[in-house]
Amino acid sequence: MSAITNHMPTAELQALDSAHHMHPFTAGNELAEKGARVITRAQGVTLTDSEGNSFLDAMAGLWCVNIGYGRDELAQVAARQMRELPFYNTFFQTTHVPAIALSAKLAELAPGDLNHVFFAGSGSEANDTNIRMVRTYWAMKGKPGKSIIISRKNAYHGSSVGSGSLGGMTYMHEQGGLPIPDIHHINQPHWWAEGGDLSPEEFGLARARELEEAIERLGEDRVAAFIAEPVQGAGGVVIAPQTYWPEIQRICDKYEILLIADEVICGFGRTGNWFGSQTMNIRPDIMTIAKGLSSGYAPIGGSIVSDEIADVIGSGEFNHGYTYSGHPVAAAVALENLRILEEEDIIGHVRNIAAPYLEKAWKGLADHPLVGEARSIGLMGTIALTPDKDSRAAFAGDAGAVGYICRERCFANNLIMRHVGDRMIISPPLVIRPEEIDTLVARATRALDETYAEIQKQGLFKAA
Ligand SMILES: *Cc1c(COP(=O)(O)O)cnc(C)c1O
Repeated sequence: MSAITNHMPTAELQALDSAHHMHPFTAGNELAEKGARVITRAQGVTLTDSEGNSFLDAMAGLWCVNIGYGRDELAQVAARQMRELPFYNTFFQTTHVPAIALSAKLAELAPGDLNHVFFAGSGSEANDTNIRMVRTYWAMKGKPGKSIIISRKNAYHGSSVGSGSLGGMTYMHEQGGLPIPDIHHINQPHWWAEGGDLSPEEFGLARARELEEAIERLGEDRVAAFIAEPVQGAGGVVIAPQTYWPEIQRICDKYEILLIADEVICGFGRTGNWFGSQTMNIRPDIMTIAKGLSSGYAPIGGSIVSDEIADVIGSGEFNHGYTYSGHPVAAAVALENLRILEEEDIIGHVRNIAAPYLEKAWKGLADHPLVGEARSIGLMGTIALTPDKDSRAAFAGDAGAVGYICRERCFANNLIMRHVGDRMIISPPLVIRPEEIDTLVARATRALDETYAEIQKQGLFKAA
């Protein structure tokens, strides 16, 4: 076969893609008919496809390209590390400089006594580590019965069998025999969709107390940990009411339940602090990290754990690890990414400039006839599409049908915005500038106008 390059016609690339490439979370037959969009290059916040179209990437890849595309420093560091030491493992009492430097740096950045890092290749792997780590922790402390991990419906913690079990996406549980035993799910703090007549504050408290009820019902001696994203990302950028997190922290403290904050999206500046746990003012015992750790330039994840957990786990052998745990090239790239985040004060830019600017512009979208609420936190934004703002009604047709139309109108207007059901979400690169936020919101508004016209034409603007 001759070389496959950017210069091939798009149709040929699409044909080869559908013949040989199986895509994640995709109906293969449907995609084969439509043809995948071929992304060829990117710079800053802008992607380019094989047809020469450019898009403002309001999803930062997949929530991960925090420092933006095209940072040559990361390429330089990766090339240098590949020449010096492309790989060595950390299993057999060996280590290397990138793993040492990155774990020390993460211990410095992480709050409280989270001073120890177990590396993985991804967020899913890191959460698999967490399942084994918290169960092993309690077993080593003489409480092997404490093995249940409580999570939330509509949470996303990854797609491996373990992390997919932690997640609360029922359509994922339906395939492959998930969840594994001893994972328990409580309801999410999603006021817009599930709050009924309660105020957000009442609802936040009620949902947090489901954790207490679950612990009481299952037995304190059976529950190992509670895991949650500070802000649910893939579930639709669900920002809990203000009453939620303080109550969760109180309950974890009262029953001595380990708190795992899945910071895979919220970590590394997304919410305007280094970690979402700081924004929500919680004290996790473990934080899951990936995505923004390397700004997506290399696959790497990990678990940052407390002194106490590291002490206990370190008192015996932890029979766990990945060939690529602490991979030297990925670790060197992550370290360079952290240097850029810190030296360029990108988190300060989020907190002081970009997030307030986005919040103001984004809120304005709530005036659109199709939009019921428009909220943001840091550089994550969400809007609920609805046929009736007052009753927060869902659409009469298939859930997600209107969201899908809106996503297609976004593409047509050179904007990448994702839909989760009938909710539209963004999570742009943290380096986005105010004038780029103006472009983002202007394109989103056009897409909403076109969606509104389209669903009226199709008769979809009806409450369920
Ligand atoms: C993406 C994600 C994961 C899984 O990370 P992968 O690198 O895709 O395995 C886990 N938790 C959260 C909150 C995520 O958003």
